[in-house]
Amino acid sequence: MALLKIRIFPDPVLRVRAEPVTVVDDEVRRILADMAETMYAGDGIGLAAPQVGISRRIVVMDTAMDDESHKPNLVYLINPRIVARSGDVTYSEGCLSFPDLHIDVKRSADVTVEFEDEKGEPRRIEASGITAVCLQHEMDHLDGVLFVDRIGLVRRRMALREFDRLQQQAAAGQG
Ligand code: ZN
Repeated sequence: MALLKIRIFPDPVLRVRAEPVTVVDDEVRRILADMAETMYAGDGIGLAAPQVGISRRIVVMDTAMDDESHKPNLVYLINPRIVARSGDVTYSEGCLSFPDLHIDVKRSADVTVEFEDEKGEPRRIEASGITAVCLQHEMDHLDGVLFVDRIGLVRRRMALREFDRLQQQAAAGQG
C-alpha cells in the first residue's frame, strides 16, 4: 500500500466529474487500499478518488470513530448512487481537501445508497447520522461538487476567505 497525495482546493481535478468504474479489477482494489491508508493517515472519515487526483467513481469511508462503537468499519464504494433520501440535518463538516476548515452544511438526514463492493458485487446501505452526511459529501466529490458549494453565497465567501487565512498560516508555520 502507498500513501497518495491529497489534492488541496483549488486543484482543478476537484472540479472534474469522475468516470464510472467499468471493471472492478486488481488496479481498482489497489486504489481502494491506497485510498483507505491515505484517509486514515489524514484522520479523515471519508475520501473520494478525485481528492487523490483519480477521476473515477470510487469512495472509501469509515465513520466508526465518530460513533459509539469506535470499531473500525471500512467500507469500499464503487459507482455509488443515492436511490432514496429523506429529512434534513445540519452537521459541521470538514474535508481533507480543505485542511482545518469546518462549515455547517445542510443535507438529507437519511440516504439509501447502492454501489459495487471491492469484488464487484452489488450492495445497498441505508445510512443515517454522520454516515449519511459522509456519503453525501463524498459522492458530491465524484460530481466535482465541494462542501462550500452547498452553502449560501455570503457564507461561501466567508468560508473561502477563512480557508485562505488558514492556508497562509500553515505556510508561515512551515517556513
Ligand atoms: Zn471532501
